[in-house]
Amino acid sequence: MAVTRRPTRRDVVRGAAVIAAAALACPSFAQGSPRVVVIGGGFGGAACARTLRRLDARLQVTLIEPNRTFTACPFSNEVIAGLRDLAAQQFGYDRIAADGIAIAAQAATKVDARARTVSLADGTKLPYDRLVLAPGIEMRFDALPGYDEAASTRMPHAWKAGEQTLLLRKQLEAMDDGGLVVIAVPAAPLRCPPAPYERASLIAHYLKTRKPRSKVLVLDAKDSYSQQKLFENSWKELYPGMIERIGLSQGGRVTSVDPATNAIVTDFGNYTAAVVNVIPPQKAGRIAEIAGAADHTGWCPIDPVSFASKLVPDVHIIGDACIAGGIPKSASAASAQGKACAAAIVNSLAGRTPDAPRLDGACYNTVAPGYAFSLRGIYQPKQDQYAETEVTTSPVEASREARQREAAQALEWFKTITVDAFG
Ligand code: FAD
Repeated sequence: MAVTRRPTRRDVVRGAAVIAAAALACPSFAQGSPRVVVIGGGFGGAACARTLRRLDARLQVTLIEPNRTFTACPFSNEVIAGLRDLAAQQFGYDRIAADGIAIAAQAATKVDARARTVSLADGTKLPYDRLVLAPGIEMRFDALPGYDEAASTRMPHAWKAGEQTLLLRKQLEAMDDGGLVVIAVPAAPLRCPPAPYERASLIAHYLKTRKPRSKVLVLDAKDSYSQQKLFENSWKELYPGMIERIGLSQGGRVTSVDPATNAIVTDFGNYTAAVVNVIPPQKAGRIAEIAGAADHTGWCPIDPVSFASKLVPDVHIIGDACIAGGIPKSASAASAQGKACAAAIVNSLAGRTPDAPRLDGACYNTVAPGYAFSLRGIYQPKQDQYAETEVTTSPVEASREARQREAAQALEWFKTITVDAFG
């Protein structure tokens, strides 16, 4: 249990000494408060900006984010299945601003690593001592023949929540009973590896209750996936005969699509579907590439202790955009990385060596209302990369009460992580 007590005079003197030592160690402290700029106000960036100010209220923290409202992906599969409104996914930045964080409501367009400035869309240049990149993902619209940005208006990806989520929902509502819904899943790495299967489950729930002669076909560029046994068992139990999955070795990899006819071509066959959800391959948000922080893979290599870029000085990368070894790309991970990165920056500005982080991650999958399971992991730096050092998965055989409890915990998790970031 945490106990708080009033600071004694000795604490204050000790605190002053630490600050004085930090001021000597860090030239920016001598000249004025260090400036930390964070690009991207999602789960990673919001957690990082707030933690920076909590750890050291003298820091000048600026959060650059073009959207006035953040739309969260976790639970967006429920929106697609008509179980939740998009508004329940949306959060503003007022509470973050109230923490003393300056919000620049524009996109960052350029990073000059030598001059240590970030340019905004209107041409303003913001100087920084440390820069944090948390831009999330970008779809690779050049990776799958036939699938570009225009195609996504016909075959939505719904892999960034918002308009795309609503489009997929509308297409499901408009389709006739007896139709086929195809979900095309890319090879790893991707944002939230289990989310395509959660989506297949919740779409099956929608079809079972509204259009019971319809089917879901998952065309997958992977052979196995996270929590596979749990998903497969739940499909047998809840949606018998409704969901089929074709993995890589059975020819499930999608090689091209034709948005004009809703046709999908795989290694083994051709399909035409009433609704096609193409989740394309992904890469780090574009600003990471512009900053020179992304490598040939499209993702950003980092030092796992400090989240410092291996390619650009004074730049740190967190969240989906970074290469974090065994940590799945998730909101949970982005938030934990944001906090650990903030601590590393504060320590390093004060001339202290950052501590090796121990990151916690929880991933819930809701496959029907009141039915969920989860995976919890602990991740620590090992040999210059993050490794999963502990993992707990829900049992494959469990009572409906246990699944119900996990569904309630999933909602609680969402509430906690969003209050932490935006509340
Ligand atoms: P984001 O949260 O995407 O934030 C990036 C921000 O950067 C955005 O606000 C964007 O506008 C901003 N940005 C980008 N470029 C610029 C720029 N140039 N200038 C300024 N700002 C910029 N995770 C879980 O933990 N649990 C779940 O249950 C879960 N479910 C999911 C379900 C689905 C369907 C999907 C698609 C994802 C799910 N995730 C889940 C994953 C989770 O949403 C992401 O991993 C998480 O959002 C990553 O956080 P981030 O901060 O890296 O990126």
